[in-house]
Amino acid sequence: MIGLENIVKTFGDLTVLKGVTLAMKEGSVTALVGPSGGGKSTLLRCVNLLEIPASGELRIGDDRIEFQPNKRVPAADIQRIRRQTGMVFQNFQLFPHLTAVENVMEGPITVLKWPAARAREHAMALLEKVGMAHKADAWPATLSGGQQQRVAIARALAMSPKVLLCDEPTSALDPELAQEVVDVLSQLAREGTTMIIATHDLRLASTIAQEAVFLDGGVVVEKGPARQLFTNPDRDRTKRFIATLT
Ligand code: ADP
Ligand code: MG
Repeated sequence: MIGLENIVKTFGDLTVLKGVTLAMKEGSVTALVGPSGGGKSTLLRCVNLLEIPASGELRIGDDRIEFQPNKRVPAADIQRIRRQTGMVFQNFQLFPHLTAVENVMEGPITVLKWPAARAREHAMALLEKVGMAHKADAWPATLSGGQQQRVAIARALAMSPKVLLCDEPTSALDPELAQEVVDVLSQLAREGTTMIIATHDLRLASTIAQEAVFLDGGVVVEKGPARQLFTNPDRDRTKRFIATLT
């Protein structure tokens, strides 16, 4: 239900994604692993169109967009795709001037034009889900990193995205706080949330991902069942990389 077909992304002379083709099933969790600079963040940003690919095709559910050099993608198409995705960043990126619950209400109010009462009720249910309802009125700066990330996950879910994109969601956290976030993501995975998670955290990846993709130098070197890719990869390049993680 989520498909990337031959996605190419360039920054000036630099080709960062060199024709990436991937397919993700509804309800599946895909771990995106690979060395720093390999293109993981760029790939996630191409799925929610924070970056516009130079060429290729993106499919989310019934929605398809084709990219061509020198052809601008209409803003309405970008908005439509972006609404179907939720993004969780390494450094949380909560709005500092809004409380936890207001952070989660923001999208439904500004984008979906929901009345505040409805948005608040929805946001409280999501905060409950991530174990943060008791901190609904707290300012982000007063929360631990793990708590901020759980609020950020609730915020990303507020628009009921078809896919949750997580860019190294635990790498700014101490192991104990990372575990809180792993627990929340595991729960979402069990409930059938479709996710793509870029991570260096093998514990996170092997706990919740069924599928894994090894991306290096903007190329998918290997993809397959997560267990196999993490324990018995095909390619030497993948073996060497996995060995650095364990
Ligand atoms: P990863 O997340 O796997 O570490 P990135 O997607 O962040 O990799 O980066 C892939 C490559 O793209 C790197 O060489 C990086 O320097 C380059 N890159 C990423 N974003 C930009 C940008 N906005 N402008 C220029 N180069 C970029
Ligand atoms: Mg990155």
